[in-house]
Amino acid sequence: MTMPVSQLQDGQAIRLSDVCKSYGDYPVLRNINAEVGRGEVVVICGPSGSGKSTLIRTVNRLEEINSGSINFEGQNIHAPMRGRELNRLRSRIGFVFQSFNLFPHLSAVENVSMSPIRVKGVSADVARDKAIKLLDRVGLADKANSYPGQLSGGQQQRVAIARALAMEPPVMLFDEPTSALDPEMVGEVLSVMKSLAAEGMTMLCVTHEMGFARDVADRIWFIDAGEILEMAPPKDFFQNPRHPRAQRFLSDLR
Ligand code: ADP
Ligand code: MG
Repeated sequence: MTMPVSQLQDGQAIRLSDVCKSYGDYPVLRNINAEVGRGEVVVICGPSGSGKSTLIRTVNRLEEINSGSINFEGQNIHAPMRGRELNRLRSRIGFVFQSFNLFPHLSAVENVSMSPIRVKGVSADVARDKAIKLLDRVGLADKANSYPGQLSGGQQQRVAIARALAMEPPVMLFDEPTSALDPEMVGEVLSVMKSLAAEGMTMLCVTHEMGFARDVADRIWFIDAGEILEMAPPKDFFQNPRHPRAQRFLSDLR
């Protein structure tokens, strides 16, 4: 079913309207209505199995939806479209996974420069120069020629962030980017994310790092059983959660 895409208002980057998704009879996303402002950092939190990954993956159409629409830059991401058009759209929405998903047979600089060369037709020299600048930005200028297997988890995840940034996306999505890391490497990845936020990147992040949520998020979306139950600035969410399930979630963390 296709629906007309609801219009973005000024200052909005993404709008989800009446988004529903089920696996068989089991509803995973129940009527999600939400928007992300341009330059806004939203942290999605909620219990395991609540639909956080499914929600964020629908935003670049790694998951299909059953009904509703998702407007990004005036276009319904879930409208029928050709593969090439979908790829172009996806290249404007960076995605960082829990498992870094780097190409093991390519060096860091090759991982970062590959999409601009393949998808955008950027020349190899230009793409390489830019990739080196991006690796510098995530603190890995000296690892340009290392292969993923020679890098720590934290370093690999920073390469994955640089790779997403290479396509110059106006929006970045993160699905638990630090959950697969040893504790001592979490900080280096969060600090790259923090600097992106400070530069004005629009970000939608699933994370259990509540310190990051408190310090960096403009808003928290609390999701449980496929429904967004609360949307609030971190100060309100952490000090005064309104929904009983949000209260329980937060008290279980302590
Ligand atoms: P979260 O990221 O919050 O842990 P998910 O979005 O991964 O939650 O999953 C939400 C629910 O959907 C869970 O109950 C999960 O078991 C179910 N689910 C996720 N992927 C699939 C799938 N491919 N097929 C069937 N059920 C799925
Ligand atoms: Mg998940």
